Amino acid sequence: MSEPARLVRLVLATANLDKADEIEAIFAPMADRFELVPRPDHIGDVEETGGTLEENALLKARALCEATGLPALADDTGLEVDALGGAPGVYSARYAGEAASYADNVAKLIHEMERRSDRRARFSTVAAAAFPDGRELVARGSVAGELAEAPAGQNGFGYDPLFRPDEGDGRTFAEMSRDEKNALSHRGRAFRLLAERLAAQIA
Ligand code: IMP
Repeated sequence: MSEPARLVRLVLATANLDKADEIEAIFAPMADRFELVPRPDHIGDVEETGGTLEENALLKARALCEATGLPALADDTGLEVDALGGAPGVYSARYAGEAASYADNVAKLIHEMERRSDRRARFSTVAAAAFPDGRELVARGSVAGELAEAPAGQNGFGYDPLFRPDEGDGRTFAEMSRDEKNALSHRGRAFRLLAERLAAQIA
């Protein structure tokens, strides 16, 4: 008789409730393999000092793993705009300044894109897992699309009201339900791939 698969508890490194909500929904169909634990409130922010999405995702996963003693999951995401030479990229959270809100960043992007005909862009997420025994895994997910000229939709977060994925039906991510976005998104792709790699590691 084969052993039942082990349930792995993973602590989420993100303090961003919008991201945590998406990650929990992505893992919901795998509830028999993975149990996600929210980030404990008392743990301070992890500074994103890396120069790449991989470095920042690993920094966050390692910090939470060290602070809790549990395997930890983290992600780092960037929006790369062709006409802006790949900006805001790894600086997506701080595009309009250190304390920028989602609305500030969206307003800056609309401004930077005024009168530009090339509106190609892509979201990329690197998802990372860090284990107390030092093992680490990463997985990348990307989605290509186009920037709308004006925000559309109330769902999602961040740059979602401006991003129309190529594989969609013309709606922005902010016009989709969470599950529709997760099915196509950078974050959905990165975490589903990471989950496959985790399952293979712990089989
Ligand atoms: P982070 O460094 O991974 O937290 O993400 C950087 C910034 O990118 C966030 O503050 C958001 O503004 C934006 N962002 C991250 N993920 C998404 C997404 O799925 N949709 C839209 N914007 C996002």
